[in-house]
Amino acid sequence: MSEFFGVETERVAEMRRDEEARFEREHPKCLSWQKSARRCMPHGVPMEWMSAYVLGHAPVVVREGSGAWFECLDVVRFLETADGDMSTFCGLNPEPVVRAVCDRAARGWQFLLPVPEAREVAEELARRWPHPYWQFTLSATQANVEAIRVARHFTGRSKFLTMVGNYAGHSEELLVSYSGGTLRLPYLGLSEGVERGVGLVQFNDVKGLEAALATREYACFLAEPALTGVGVVMPEPGWHDALRRLTRETGTVLVLDETHTCISGPGGVVRRWGLEPDIVTCGKSLGGGLPLGAYGMTEEVAEAFESGHDHTGTVGELATGGTLFGNGLSLAASLAALTQVLTDDAYERAAALGSRLADGLEATIARAGLPWKTHRLYPRSGVSFSPQLPRDAAEADASEGPELRSLLHVALANRGVWEGTQGTGPTASVAFTESDVDHYVAAFGEFIDELVA
Ligand code: PMP
Repeated sequence: MSEFFGVETERVAEMRRDEEARFEREHPKCLSWQKSARRCMPHGVPMEWMSAYVLGHAPVVVREGSGAWFECLDVVRFLETADGDMSTFCGLNPEPVVRAVCDRAARGWQFLLPVPEAREVAEELARRWPHPYWQFTLSATQANVEAIRVARHFTGRSKFLTMVGNYAGHSEELLVSYSGGTLRLPYLGLSEGVERGVGLVQFNDVKGLEAALATREYACFLAEPALTGVGVVMPEPGWHDALRRLTRETGTVLVLDETHTCISGPGGVVRRWGLEPDIVTCGKSLGGGLPLGAYGMTEEVAEAFESGHDHTGTVGELATGGTLFGNGLSLAASLAALTQVLTDDAYERAAALGSRLADGLEATIARAGLPWKTHRLYPRSGVSFSPQLPRDAAEADASEGPELRSLLHVALANRGVWEGTQGTGPTASVAFTESDVDHYVAAFGEFIDELVA
């Protein structure tokens, strides 16, 4: 009998059939909605990530939600543990954000001019990260796109360097690092030759990094401080020191993407770990669930931003901006989220719940005698189906089993837990309580007991 990291593959296939049949029985309204929606939307969803094609199992259609729970059309309640891929780390529609949005909506929100909240949010971000200057977009993707442009302008170089398996958004060149492998199908629809402008190294490979940066052809190194799109892969001791030293020595701008890792605390892991990027990018939870991306710059980078000419003296306009960027609704939501929801205490509470979650997963795995490992990133946890935690995306990929992962997700859904997105793990949002964590651990335990029975 064939095995995948301690589990018989036949058992996985058999359980998946049973769990999917149960899901279909219990979600007739959600499934019939999607079937009719296919007449007007490909895959029957407004955006492909919500489809069975990408999720690995059918989605539910949400009627409403608040705090840590939502309810689908079939009136089944789910604990939201994917946190909308970190966009709802504040919890679902937290009260202060609802109030701020209603108040701003009543006074108007789109003027293509600054509203007072803009300065307040920028000041709050400057208090959290060591970057005094900030710009806003509508998404983290756009923040990363602009960060690369600013780095090109700053250095006069064109290419950028990133890490294999580093997801940084949906622009063409950002997708080069995240296409293919077991976790993902290769991306279709990218332009030919797009990869020529992008250099790739493996996470934690200091020698590879040194060799790539020595060419001095890269405007920036853009990367997550810990890889979070393939489970969580943590930096090894020395990685961040080498990264900062080598980027400085080679005149390469260091851009750290805190879109996911900012759930670790105010100022994300940049503050927790004392990192010194030239530019930091962020999004998702920053907007309290509304669309917002942001990037912060050092004084030196901001000076180049405002200079109005490039390094050859050519006068021009920096290629940034968008009509709805910096709109009042996103900024009012963000101000309320940052000052009233994502408080210092809230991060600490969520991190403690994340530890409780990881302890629960570890105990369950040990009880079942499975050779798996649990990763930990403050409020976030999850299992890697391998006896050692991966060091880079290649190892993360080798330890991933899409069949088993999809089975886990559908089995959790049948037990009142939503952990939709592939590649993430459960994250305690700031709306979680201890009993929510225990609900996840109990559902996970029930599934594992049946898997190894
Ligand atoms: N950076 C990271 C680290 C991400 O995980 C993501 C989204 N998964 C993005 C950027 C892009 O975010 P968005 O889709 O909101 O633009």
